[in-house]
Order: sequence, then C-alpha cells, then structure tokens
Amino acid sequence: MADERYPIERVRDIGIIAHIDAGKTTVTERILFYTGISHKIGEVHEGEAVMDWMDQERERGITITAAATTCFWTPRAIDDNKEEKYRINILDTPGHVDFTAEVERSLRVLDGGAVIFDGVAGVEPQSETVWHQADKYNVPRICFINKLDRLGASFTRSLDSILERLTKDALPIVLPIGLESEFSGLVDLFERKAFGFDGEHGEKVVERDIPANMKEEVEKYRAALIERVVEHDDKLLAAYLAGEEPSVRELQRVLRSATIAGKIVPVLCGAALSNKGVQFLLDAVIRYLPSPLDVPSVEGDNPKTTQREQRKPEDDEPFAGLAFKVATDPFVGQLTYCRIYSGKLKRGTYVLNSSSGDTERIGRILRMHANDREEVEEMYPGDIAGLVGLKATTTGDTLCDTEHPIVLERVFFPEPVIAMRIEPKTKADQERMGIALKRLAEEDPTFRLVTDQETGETIIAGMGELHLEIIVDRMFREFKVEANVGRPQVAYKETIRTTAEAEGKYIRQTGGRGQYGHVWLKVEPRERGQGFEFVNAIRGGVVPQEYIPPVEKGVKEALDRGIMAGYPVVDVNVTLYDGSYHDVDSSEAAFKIAGSLAVQEACKRARPVLLEPIMKVEVISPENFLGDVTGDLAARRSHIENLGERAMVKVISAKTPLAEMFGYATQLRSMTQGRGSYTMEFDHYAEVPDNIASTIIEGKKSGK
Ligand code: GDP
Repeated sequence: MADERYPIERVRDIGIIAHIDAGKTTVTERILFYTGISHKIGEVHEGEAVMDWMDQERERGITITAAATTCFWTPRAIDDNKEEKYRINILDTPGHVDFTAEVERSLRVLDGGAVIFDGVAGVEPQSETVWHQADKYNVPRICFINKLDRLGASFTRSLDSILERLTKDALPIVLPIGLESEFSGLVDLFERKAFGFDGEHGEKVVERDIPANMKEEVEKYRAALIERVVEHDDKLLAAYLAGEEPSVRELQRVLRSATIAGKIVPVLCGAALSNKGVQFLLDAVIRYLPSPLDVPSVEGDNPKTTQREQRKPEDDEPFAGLAFKVATDPFVGQLTYCRIYSGKLKRGTYVLNSSSGDTERIGRILRMHANDREEVEEMYPGDIAGLVGLKATTTGDTLCDTEHPIVLERVFFPEPVIAMRIEPKTKADQERMGIALKRLAEEDPTFRLVTDQETGETIIAGMGELHLEIIVDRMFREFKVEANVGRPQVAYKETIRTTAEAEGKYIRQTGGRGQYGHVWLKVEPRERGQGFEFVNAIRGGVVPQEYIPPVEKGVKEALDRGIMAGYPVVDVNVTLYDGSYHDVDSSEAAFKIAGSLAVQEACKRARPVLLEPIMKVEVISPENFLGDVTGDLAARRSHIENLGERAMVKVISAKTPLAEMFGYATQLRSMTQGRGSYTMEFDHYAEVPDNIASTIIEGKKSGK
C-alpha cells in the first residue's frame, strides 16, 4: 500500500464514541473490513477484532488505548456522479469515565465523532457523559443506532431517547427496513431510495424497492428532514418555499455545514454484527463530518513572547502537532502518536518539544493501520503520525518547529490520588515487576511508583480504582508478574501550619570512635503545591560543609516517611541554621540522623495537619433527581459550586474529598434510576477537618 497524499479536504480525523457494549469494536472492525484494511471478519467474541489488540481490553470489552488507524473510503455515488476516495483516520476513544483525561484528550485531537448507540437500550448513562464532554469541545457528531437486529430493538424509541436526553437537533437521514430478525436494509431519505446488503459479509450495497407499507413513513420523515435542513440556507429555503425540490447534492451540502456548526446531528442506523448499514455510516462520516480545514485553526502560546498564536492547517505554516498518546508497541517499542495541525513533518529532522524544552529527532514516521504500520518520509496537516525514536515526549506535549515555538496545550498532570500496595510473589517476580512498572509509568504520566521507606514495599499510585486495576492487569499479562495487591487507599499527605524550630542531636560515646551529629533546624509552611525546600544558613562553619548534604538527606527521608500518620510531608521549607561538630566522632551518618530527628521534632511543634485530595466532580442528572443528587453530594462534604444546564440535563459542579467518593457510581445510579453520570478529576489538596483526621490517623496506626 503506497502512502498516497490526500488533499486535506479529503481527510477525516474522527473518533468512534460509545458506551461500553454498544458495539464500538464491532463497528470499527466492520469499517476496517469494508475499507479493505482487514481481510477477515473477526467478531469480538471470537477475540479477533483488529483494534482491540490488548488482551485485557478484549476481556473487559472496553477500549483503553487511544490508538489511531487509517483507512480509505469512497462514498457511494449519487446520481452517477463520480466520487473521490477519502482518508479516514480513526482515533480510538476510551469509553470509561475513569479515563476522563484520556477521553478529553482524544476529543481534543479529533475533528468529529460518530456516536454509537445500542438499538435496544438507546441512550445509556455513559453515552450521556461522553456526549456532554463532546459538547464541551464542540465536536460535530453523527449518531449510529446499532444492533437493530436484536430482539427488542427499536429505531424510534432509540431516536426518542437521543432527542430527550442528548439533543433536540438529532435528525434521521435513513430509516430501517424491518427490525429484529426482519431487519434487512435502509431507506436513504434524501434520495428516497431503499438499499440492502448482499454478499457474504454485506459488502455489496444494492438498491431495492421501498416496501409498500413504508412509503407513507418515508414521506413523513423525508419532509421533516428537508424542512429542517433548508432552514440553514437562505437560498435553499426560498426555493423550497417557492415549491422547488432541492437536489440531493444541495441538501447534503447544507446538512454538512449545519452538522459542522453543531446545529444538526444526523442519525443513521444499522446492525454492525449482521453486516448492515456500516457503509452508510462511512458515507456520512465523509459527507457530514469536518475535514481539518472545516474546524477552527489550532491556537497556542508562543513561549518566548507569551502571545497567543494560530497555526493554519497548511503545508507552509511552521510545523505544530500534539502528542496525544505514548504507547509501547509490540513491534517498534515506544511509539508516540501525534496529530499534525500545521506544516510538514519530515523523517530525520529535529523538532522542539515546547512543553519540555527538549529537542527531539524524528527517527521514523509510521502511518498506523490496525494491524500493520507503514513507514513514510513525510506527513502533513491533518495526519496522525506514529513517531519512533522520541525520548523526552509524553502525552500532552506539543511538538513544533524549532524556529517557531508554540505550546498548544498546557501540560498538567494531575497528582495521583489513589495508592495501592503491591507485593511480588517471588524474587524473580520482583525483578520483572520493577521493569514492568517502570515501563508502564513511562507510558502514563498519571501513574506513579513509590517505595515505602519503612517497609520497602512498592506502592503504585494513580487516578482511580479502575486505573490501578488495569495497570496491575497489564503487569500480570504483558510482563507475567505474579503479585499480591492491597486495597486502594486515598493518597493523603501531611504538612505543617506554623513555623517552629527544633534541635537534633545524635551523640554516642561508647569507647573507641563515637558518633556526633548536632543541628538546629527551622521549619516553615510553604504555599500549597510549592513542595520541599532546604536552605543552608550555617555561618562560620559550625557545621562543616561536608555534613550539610547528609543533613538534607536525613530531613528529606524523614519527611517522606511522614510525621503524623506516615504520609509524605509536603510544602515545607527547612532551614539549617545552627549546630556543632566533633573533630573525631562526627560522621555523615551521624548528621543524617541528627537532621532526621530535628525535622521530626520541629514538624511536631509546627501544628502538623493531614491533607486530602479534593476532586472536581461534575455530576449530570435529569432535573427530577436534582434534589437527591445535591443532597447526597452535600452529605459527602462537597462544596457545590455551580448548577448549570447542558442540552437537556442539569450539571452540578462540586468539589468533594476523594475519600467520600468511594462507591459513588453505584449510589448515583440508584438515586437516578441509572440516568445520572459523573466525571471527576483531581483539583487540589486541602486540610482534613480535625475530627476526620483523627479517625484516619487511628486507622493507620491500627494498621487498617
Ligand atoms: P464495545 O464494547 O462498544 O466495543 O462493543 P462490542 O463491539 O464489543 O459489542 C458488544 C457486544 O454486542 C458483542 O457481543 C457484539 O457481538 C454485540 N454486537 C455488536 N454489534 C451488534 C449488532 O449490530 N447486533 C447484535 N445483535 N449484536 C451486536
């Protein structure tokens, strides 16, 4: 397959967005089949789907990685007009709320979305969540009501649930012929033509007659569709009102701009599993979803001037792209996925990682297909590049022309808020575990690895329960590590509230050579997030220079071990200002211990306090459950900040301690009859109220 250049207006960067189980994998897999990338129909339950190549995704039936796949499609010709071939880059979006950051990042790099629904269940809570996230990023969408072949499937009921819960602008452009086991084809409303899907895998789209009993229904839906479409174009509207029938081409053109403007959401339907309707979805992706030219140019900050700048999707603009995923690839090792927004990216050249300040060499550029990769020399705006050889680039970094720096996205990695102990079963596991966790941490900036200083145990920390569960799972499968894991725990921290001083003395004189370390330290609180700072204010050599680094080390280790309850102490300034030494007995070890003793004592005097992660929580609920939802949030020590409205639902924004959010998903579901949904992300650390802190400290002491 030669890498052909496609003019940018013939490129689509889209995501397939769906609730778990709606059929995203099956739809994607059929797309790859019909577009000729995969040559075999592999069904999900047979474990052959091309996109889901990570084992545990297959087993959980959810897609975690935001991999990209390119494919090509020529839409069906209308009235014998020749159609061109298009390139579609499919960006895989994670479907689970625990991966909010990843969902949001993938929504950022795609230009349009195809949202898949289960034709029996209709809109499900998580489709609501993702829908509202897509609203936030103004992502133009089309809908595909899938599984119409299932018992209990209903096109109209599913459509109504979209209209009621998501958007009043949903507008069907096809109708199904038959339902459940009778589902056999589609009527295209613009064309007023019926189609069936022949061939072993439904690959042949053949025209057939509109069933006589559907004619009335078709006319009704068609009239409604045309009426809504012509509203968006003055000329067409005038002609239509004058009794002129607009051409299919004109209607498609106006529907395209209305969809891109977010004013209409075209609705299609089918049954991916029984090979019906996916070709129409592909046609609609091309006809109605934007090319990179149709969306606003990307903006960012010039780090030199701090001015806001724009990059147009043109070859002769300076290169700018966003690294949206770093993955370990079974064939090439570390692979960085980059969406190119402007300029050309050439193999062998150097680019600036404006987020980290590093210069990176582009070793190889790959075009990613579902099951192979193609090496290319150069890529262009709108392309999705798989880059090999980048050393210092992580998810969210901007890559750009070295002469024209721009930062597209502020890099912000949330602090991990949940931690879990993990213990290898054997010595051999221990070694493999070290390698595995290090590799996984490189891929995922929100995942951290720490060693408990006291027990030597490994603690993994991340963004949510599922996040850690999946990491552990990958460790088992990909790295064959056997380990026992503990219960997930909130990652508390400690800090101090006032300034205090203390002395640390480590003096032993027991014949022979003794030990002598002696320091005076002052501790002061720093602003939240400022971290640890050590200041050496020793004058006149009362503590010799060579013993100062050991003091700092002792201080640092003691702070990491915690003062009140074994959580790391953060945001303190420690000043070493006095002490003494002994010519013979002083040693680095003795000063390290003295530093540690002094800082522990000083912190105890400085009104230490426990800090807890506070989450920014966004709850989406239908209006009739609002009272219960806000009442429950209040009982969870929430600070409710805003009550908003978004396309037919209430949006409650709150700040809530993470410790109160365990089990929230279940509670919210039962309070809202399954219709409420929420997302949460870390916001800041705040002091734990005293009464709650004492319970936590007690619990920690008793080893719970
Ligand atoms: P995902 O979780 O959204 O990726 O959904 P999958 O593609 O894994 O589909 C979930 C389940 O629904 C699988 O058992 C599929 O075989 C089944 N499925 C997907 N599409 C259809 C369809 O059109 N009709 C029927 N009857 N089942 C489907």
